[in-house]
Amino acid sequence: MSEMRKTPLLDDLEKGPWPSFVTEMKKAAAKSEMSNDLLGALEQCYKDKKTHWKHGGIVGVRGYGGGVIGRYSDIPEQFPGVAHFHTVRVNQPSAWFYKTDSLREICGIWDKYGSGLTNFHGSTGDMILLGTKTENLETIFAELSSRGWDLGGSGSALRTPSCCVGPARCEWSNIDTLDITYSLTEEFQDEMHRPAFPYKYKFKVSGCAVDCVAAIARADCAIIGTWKGDIKIDQAEVQRYAKNGMDINAEIVNMCPTKCITYNGKELKIENEDCSRCMHCITKMTKALRPGGERGATILIGSHAPFVKGAQLSQVIVPFMKMEPPYTEIKELTRKIWEWWDEYGKNRERIGELIERKGMRDFLEYIGVDPHPAMIKEPRRDPFYFWTTDELK
Ligand code: SF4
Repeated sequence: MSEMRKTPLLDDLEKGPWPSFVTEMKKAAAKSEMSNDLLGALEQCYKDKKTHWKHGGIVGVRGYGGGVIGRYSDIPEQFPGVAHFHTVRVNQPSAWFYKTDSLREICGIWDKYGSGLTNFHGSTGDMILLGTKTENLETIFAELSSRGWDLGGSGSALRTPSCCVGPARCEWSNIDTLDITYSLTEEFQDEMHRPAFPYKYKFKVSGCAVDCVAAIARADCAIIGTWKGDIKIDQAEVQRYAKNGMDINAEIVNMCPTKCITYNGKELKIENEDCSRCMHCITKMTKALRPGGERGATILIGSHAPFVKGAQLSQVIVPFMKMEPPYTEIKELTRKIWEWWDEYGKNRERIGELIERKGMRDFLEYIGVDPHPAMIKEPRRDPFYFWTTDELK
């Protein structure tokens, strides 16, 4: 091993109260020449105030169009260890449940063929193995796949679907997020491994509207668990919350976004037809309130965070869909959505942007979904009634 690279600028990033990625890189650099050169290359980027990574073309493994992101240094003579520094995306298990054995297995492979640096997890959800050489890619892939692992999606393809912990650990989950994610991943293997879309497409599945994987803000298709029917109320438990000091009017009634809750000091009432299933009251009074009736999911479309036009949140397209294996309805709907996107989408245009450009009407007509009042883009800001300043006091 050569001497550890000197990094006066990066050392600054180790100061302060939080864990530092520089410290972790130094630990890896003590064992790996590649990570040591990475420290040096990063220090050089800070010194020169510009990146020294260049896009050097497409790399990958045989039979797959994605899963590996090619990265090359533009100063390889100075830092030969990172002349190639490709990233490998590995499909994570649903909701990121691992046995320690599996983590050791992955790390063992990565220490052997890569820099030893990882990112658990990338924002799409995959395990991210950072930094290897072109000549090691096939071997890594063979080692991973012989042990049951597979690569995730990258490029203009279906990205690795991801989900919250769902019923594995959460009492509020209305759907089996883990099984849905697994089933979608299995069904759309081809779309994930062989990029053929105008741009990326992400599925994220949350068990309820608390939306722990932030699907509504980040997924082209968000599947959010919900229910049809009345919220069940245990009035004795409501009283217990009040007795224990909860200000029910301030914390529950006034916080309900659709103003459908009333409380007279003795009884809590909900106008269920006005409830938007936001989960606020249920998460605050876990013991007193629970979803009732049939369980299923709301399907939303179109969120993404591009650089140019600004972020977009998803819109509802199906207010309620039953979610039972083999999930035929969501799979068929997805194929229709992709057909329309394939037909009209421009290069690097996300489905949400295409809907904006062509209009929701065109989109709904093509996918065969009837318009519904729940398909609002955002709460309305243009009431017909304009209040005077006095009325607002
Ligand atoms: Fe109101 Fe949300 Fe509770 Fe429905 S779930 S009653 S909208 S706070």
